[in-house]
Order: sequence, then C-alpha cells, then structure tokens
Amino acid sequence: MKSIPDIQRNNSEALFATAKTYFPGGVNSPVRAFKSVGGTPLFIKKGSGCRITDEDGNEFIDFCCSWGPLILGHAHQAVYQAIVETAANGTSFGAPTRLENELAELILSNNRFIEKIRFVSSGTEAVMSAIRLARGYTGRSKILKFEGCYHGHVDSLLVKAGSGLVTFGESSSAGVPEAFAAETIVVPLNDLPALEAAFQLHGSDIACVIIEPIPANNGLLLQAEAFLTALREKCTAHGILLLFDEVISGFRVGFEGAAGLYGIAPDIVTYGKIIGGGMPVGAYGASAEIMSRVSPEGSVYQAGTLSGNPVAMAAGKAALTELLKPGFYENLKSKTERFLKKITNHCLSNGYEVSFPSVGSIFWIAFSRNTIRNAQEIDSGSMSNFKVLHRELLKRGVYLGPSGYEVGFVSAAHTEADLDFAAQMICEAMDVVMEFRLD
Ligand SMILES: *Cc1c(COP(=O)(O)O)cnc(C)c1O
Repeated sequence: MKSIPDIQRNNSEALFATAKTYFPGGVNSPVRAFKSVGGTPLFIKKGSGCRITDEDGNEFIDFCCSWGPLILGHAHQAVYQAIVETAANGTSFGAPTRLENELAELILSNNRFIEKIRFVSSGTEAVMSAIRLARGYTGRSKILKFEGCYHGHVDSLLVKAGSGLVTFGESSSAGVPEAFAAETIVVPLNDLPALEAAFQLHGSDIACVIIEPIPANNGLLLQAEAFLTALREKCTAHGILLLFDEVISGFRVGFEGAAGLYGIAPDIVTYGKIIGGGMPVGAYGASAEIMSRVSPEGSVYQAGTLSGNPVAMAAGKAALTELLKPGFYENLKSKTERFLKKITNHCLSNGYEVSFPSVGSIFWIAFSRNTIRNAQEIDSGSMSNFKVLHRELLKRGVYLGPSGYEVGFVSAAHTEADLDFAAQMICEAMDVVMEFRLD
C-alpha cells in the first residue's frame, strides 16, 4: 500500500495555539477540538459547494457540513443573496418583521404535524423551551429520554442512565444538580419492555417523552418503525406528550422530517440546523392548542432578544424554498445510496467488518456488520479504527466530522463526480485501516 504524507497543518497549529489562550480547549464547542481523532483541528478558511479549504490551503470534500445545517452546501447562491440583501437593511430590530411570517408560512403550509411555531436561536434553546411547554401543558414534572439520544446541552438532558433497568438519570456533566437529573428517566432505545416498565412505574408523572426519531448523534441508531409506533400509542394512553427532537432529521430526510417519513404524529416538534440555512435558528412547534400555552398567550414563559432575527429568517426561507423544489429529496437520497453502495461493495468483497447505515442523506460508518439500534451495541473499541480512517481521509482530501460517533451528510452540492472521488478515497482509506488491524 502506498503511503501518503500527512497534510500540512502549520497555520492551523499556530491558530490553535492562540485559540487555546482564549477558549477552553481552544474551541467554542467541544467536538471541534479533534480529541477523539487526535492531531490539531483544522481551521477552516472558506467553503464553497461541497468543498472546504483550511488555513494551510488544504482542500476537502466536506461530509460534516457544519454538523448538518448545510443541506445545500457552502455559500449557496440563493442563501447568500438573501443574507446580504437582508443585512443591508439592518440586522436586528427586536420587533416583528415580515420575514418571520414568511418563514413560518413556508414551514406551516408544508407540514401536517404542527399548526403554530416559535422561532428561537439554537437547537438547544428549542428543546429547552419545548420541555418547559410540555411540563406547563401537562402539569407534570418528569421527562423520559433515551440513552444514546442527544438533545443539546439542556441541564435536565445532560443525563445518562444510572444502574438498573428503569432508572432515574445521573447527570453526565459537572454543574447539573442531581435533583435536575432525578426528574429525567432514561431508558435504552428500541426497547419496548423497558419503556413499558418505566410507564408502569411513573406514567402519570411524565410530562413528555423526548426522542430523536432518527437518533443521529451517537452513531446512526435507526429505530424499528414498530418501536416508534408503539411509543406513540403508549404516550397517548398515558397522557404523555411525545416530543420529536428533529433538530437533525427535520428538513433532512424530507421536508416534514422523520414524522413525515414514518407517518407518526408527535405532539411537539423541535427543529434547528437546516431550518436556519446556516444561520443560528431553532424552533419548536405543536398544535395551536398546545402552543397557546406559550407566553404572551399562555403562562409558559419563553423569550429571545435575537429570536426571529431577520437575517437568519431570510437565510432559512431561501434554503427551505430550495428544499421544496420537486425531486429535491429523491435526488439527494439516490445520490447518497449510490455513493454508499460503492463503498459497501468494496468493503464486503474484502470481508471488512463494516457497514454504512443510512437514511436519506445521513450516513454512518459502523465498524460492525450488525444492525445497531441502541447505544450499548456500539463497540467503543472500534473507534480506534475511525481514528485511522479519519487521518487517512484528510490526506486524501475528504473531511468527516472528527468523531466516529458522528454521522456524515451528503448535500445537494455534492455532484456524482465528487461522490465517486470520495467513495474511492474512502475505499482506499478503509484498506489502510484494515491493514493496520491485521498487523
Ligand atoms: C444539534 C442537535 C441539538 C442541539 O442543537 P444546537 O443548535 O447545537 O444547540 C439538539 N438536538 C438534536 C437532535 C441535535 O442534533
């Protein structure tokens, strides 16, 4: 196997050294620090279409896509134009603007699952507000989440399973009081008996169940549809609201997200990432009746100085307009499937223990051939393979999110030629990984 020299990172190294004097760990969000793949994080200078260029001039085909928002790729013309034109008229007023109506109209008239929406500034904020709404609406205080789902850095959701089958959570971050964690029940994904046991014990105290209907923050843990259907039925039976956290899956697997894909109606939905076209936007939505509990109409308080920011609204509107064009999602899905098929064929014919679970344009590199549906089934030891893969791919001009637990995204800007090239590089890099393992 020919070995390829490592990429130059001199400028990124210098910038990272400086950044470390300013920010904890040198970053403003932890995964960016490259801790799980090693080496200096690349400082990105620019992006265009499916490509990014770092401060040392290395160019990559990007499958991180800002962790999901960039379904149209970097610096998409229509989105860029909308941002520039809107910013020319002022960037924030703290008063209502027409653009908020326009983005809401676009979303609500193309979504069967929500009747009213509230815009916020991040996915975390959307989830935090939606949980408060669920508690305010039901008058109950406990919530139930699943091990292996991520919902942003909300206190009561930075919680992991304690010991035992049905357990109250233990906080997974310093600074989260155990009393908060105790309000959160944690059960494994795709495990109906565990869910039933939790409902049996605590059903009447639970305000909502929060789930990523397509769990994509800890590998891609695709749920059996029967599990999601049963979850919907059991929530209804216990008067528990079902909260779909669609911050990643919303507008990604279809305009109506996972709810539309599976035909399952949640009571509350949260959005983020794609909804802002690359600008900071989050949102939560529900029936008009549930949303009427939000202030100033109702007694659940929630506010934001920059909520519904016009520049962000314009970017979201421009992006979502593209997604509504006929064939958009079909095209993206078939491109992704073709791409993954190439890699899969190569790996299968070489007998590699890997697979590439995917839904729509989301994919994951799993170092296992089993169908993995919950967090415990992931072999943490296999992450050392990802570390090698990541480095080999950087050398070959392909950028993945710097952790083996993260999923990849194909954007509309990835052409067939880009994907063919990337597939070949992934096959080559996988050969190196497997050679390492045999040694
Ligand atoms: C990214 C993400 C969040 C958090 O969104 P931020 O904008 O990073 O705060 C919440 N839930 C899910 C499912 C996500 O993927």
